[in-house]
Amino acid sequence: MSVISLNSYSLGRWMPPSGERQGLKSAVSGQVVAEIGSAALDFAGMADYARRVGGPALRKMTFHDRAFALKALAQYLNERREALYELSYETGATKPDSMIDIDGGIGTLFVYSSKARRELPDDRILTDGALEQLSRSGQFVGQHVATPLQGVAVHINAFNFPVWGMLEKLAPTLIAGVPAIVKPASATAWVAEACFRMIVESGLLPEGAVQFIAGSTGDLLDRLSGQDVVSFTGSAATAAMLKGKSAVIEKSVRFIAEQDSLNASILGPDAAPGTPEFEAFIKEVHREMTAKAGQKCTAIRRVIVPQESRAAVIDALVARLERTVIGNPRDETVRMGALASLAQRSDVLEKASILGTEAKRIYGDPENFRVEGADAGEGAFVPPMLFSCEDPDAAQAVHAVEAFGPVSTVMAYRDLPHALALANRGEGSLVASVFTHDPAVARQAVLDAGAFHGRLYFANRDTGKDATGHGSPLPHMVHGGPGRAGGGEEMGGMRGVMHYMQRTAIQGSPDIIAGITQRYVAGASTFEAEPHPFRLAFGELAPGRTLWTAERTVTLEDIEHFATFTGDTFYAHMDEEAAAANPFFPGRVAHGYLILSFAAGLFVEPAPGPVLANYGLDNLRFMKPVSPGDSLKVRLTVKQKSRRNDEYGEVRWDVGVYNGEGEQVAAYELLTMNAM
Ligand code: NDP
Repeated sequence: MSVISLNSYSLGRWMPPSGERQGLKSAVSGQVVAEIGSAALDFAGMADYARRVGGPALRKMTFHDRAFALKALAQYLNERREALYELSYETGATKPDSMIDIDGGIGTLFVYSSKARRELPDDRILTDGALEQLSRSGQFVGQHVATPLQGVAVHINAFNFPVWGMLEKLAPTLIAGVPAIVKPASATAWVAEACFRMIVESGLLPEGAVQFIAGSTGDLLDRLSGQDVVSFTGSAATAAMLKGKSAVIEKSVRFIAEQDSLNASILGPDAAPGTPEFEAFIKEVHREMTAKAGQKCTAIRRVIVPQESRAAVIDALVARLERTVIGNPRDETVRMGALASLAQRSDVLEKASILGTEAKRIYGDPENFRVEGADAGEGAFVPPMLFSCEDPDAAQAVHAVEAFGPVSTVMAYRDLPHALALANRGEGSLVASVFTHDPAVARQAVLDAGAFHGRLYFANRDTGKDATGHGSPLPHMVHGGPGRAGGGEEMGGMRGVMHYMQRTAIQGSPDIIAGITQRYVAGASTFEAEPHPFRLAFGELAPGRTLWTAERTVTLEDIEHFATFTGDTFYAHMDEEAAAANPFFPGRVAHGYLILSFAAGLFVEPAPGPVLANYGLDNLRFMKPVSPGDSLKVRLTVKQKSRRNDEYGEVRWDVGVYNGEGEQVAAYELLTMNAM
């Protein structure tokens, strides 16, 4: 492989390496594969370009526009994965390792696109939570909304996932409508650069939406302000240094950190040898030690097992580790490749020797192990190393020192509270897993250990093959943890988008709130017009448009007919005396479902037209009983619209059912699909 010059992408142009260039070495052969350097970049200019060009272009788009762009981008990258796998071998990654990184990253874009289209409005303002009534009259109300920050997101990524690390941060940032400057870790930057090049070549993102620094960030962090966000993944030391920068502190720059983590996996007290949970646990610990050669921020570092199962766990793990072939990741028999760099190898060996002061190494000798298809002296190879700690209560390092490689320590517990206390000794982790079939054990784990872990993963015979794995952060779920893990949170579906938006409390009259949010709210003005709203296509329906129906009277015959027809002969509808004895009813009353059916009968316009389907009701409340002789009348108001695709969209209708005295007897939101 010839030496690749890694370019930066700044102010809409590719910039070759500049200043003092650093040679980046293959993790497998030790040969230089790429060179990197960013001294000539205008960092202040890049931040300014993002704010001036990228931000406004993204903010013109709706959440759905941005989500469709992400989907197209995911498809574009998906078709070009092979080139990335090829480059990835030189980082020491096997093909399955690269799939975690590359396919995992592309999958994250797909999930964010789909969730954003389902959960966010086709709008540029996001409403957050329900309308708050702030006065008795209903004419002063409150609503939380969120809008994109008008700055730039600086993404500083770790070496272990050059593609996933970039895409999992870009997805929520771009959905929010914020431009990003990506700074990959140097050690594996040639893979990140190739993927970034595809993003630019796709032409799917607006100008200025993304820029790329191949090399150091220069004075970029000194140029940030309160509309900017730093999202960092890497070591605690670098995080602390960057968080402590005066611009970051003085300008309240948002800082999301994901750093070291001494993740634990607990074998439940119920999961004795021979149970499916025991088998699953052994497989998972082995997988977490060897996938990506243990270079996962979520990898299991501490293996916490019942005292009585300790010997069985060690035997089973050692048997699996003995069968693990280490070597050149291009070799298909190889199960574990190399660490990302020689620097990482030195670091892992140093950390392993610190662990060795408190725990005995029971498997894996870095001085003596077999490497297939590569030179152990040139590449960044280490064997998996399993330690056993006799006294985990007295030990310090096993709970505090992260050897970022295939290194784990087994420790025994007396009872469940002891196991959970040991897990919490990591002082904050990204994930802890518990292998148990007992829901009481799981509940105790959440109560005792939830506060110390960003994610708790429960696996057993029921989750089986469906379980995604201790070590897999999912775009739907939060990734991050307290304390040592950095105190940050990424992803978690739309929660991750909020890190790049400002939440603002807005207060005013219902009409003002409805105008801002483009959705009808209680108390806002409505208007009636011909024709019937069911005759109008999606685009012709405006929030506030209302239909008041004619009235109909509910008779005792209606109630009896409905009861016999449906079989719902509940006493409140059929037995005058029993109904009257009930504190909620004056006597026999109409069925709630009869009221809904009559409401539909009153508002429906029956001829074929743009309403394609009624697909649900939300927030249904029956507010007052309806007695025989009462009349009913319905108000149908367009509340909110949400485009689904080019053919149809969802219309949410605010429905009120009223009696002859004008009192509301039922309220709900009706959902229809309407043709464009
Ligand atoms: P670093 O903290 O050194 O690097 C992380 C990122 O920060 C890289 O992109 C790096 O760029 C960048 N960086 C470093 N210094 C600066 C700076 N002064 N200004 C701006 N950016 C900077 O961590 P490493 O990648 O070297 O990994 C070291 C250890 O961190 C690992 O051994 C492991 O313990 C932990 N780690 C934890 C991870 C997690 O997710 N929990 C993931 C990866 C690592 P560059 O590469 O160019 O120096």
